[in-house]
Amino acid sequence: MPIQGSCHCGKIAYTLDAEPTEAMECNCSICRRKGYLLTFSTPDKFTLKTLRDDITVYTFNKHVIRHQFCKVCGCAPFGEGTGPDGKEMVAVNLRCAEGVDLSKLKIHHFDGASM
Ligand SMILES: [Zn+2]
Repeated sequence: MPIQGSCHCGKIAYTLDAEPTEAMECNCSICRRKGYLLTFSTPDKFTLKTLRDDITVYTFNKHVIRHQFCKVCGCAPFGEGTGPDGKEMVAVNLRCAEGVDLSKLKIHHFDGASM
């Protein structure tokens, strides 16, 4: 069953056609500040249900990932970018998903700080 997610105020909402049981927690400069718990998907499984006008985009370093966050409440439900294989991917922040028991996710720790 697809999962629904949103920022706190609801200006950004998404549907992800997946049932994640695992997530990645990364220690890089942005992930540790934001507290992301990420699952990765392809654009065909991700539907943005709200307007891009309400999203602010932040990029840094090599600018390969477009970190999206809400202009109003500041939550960061997802990011978009290009994967190592050159294909478009979506990184979905499961902390913004509804009905996902974060304590039951298998967490993979990724050492992004060393890259
Ligand atoms: Zn918001």
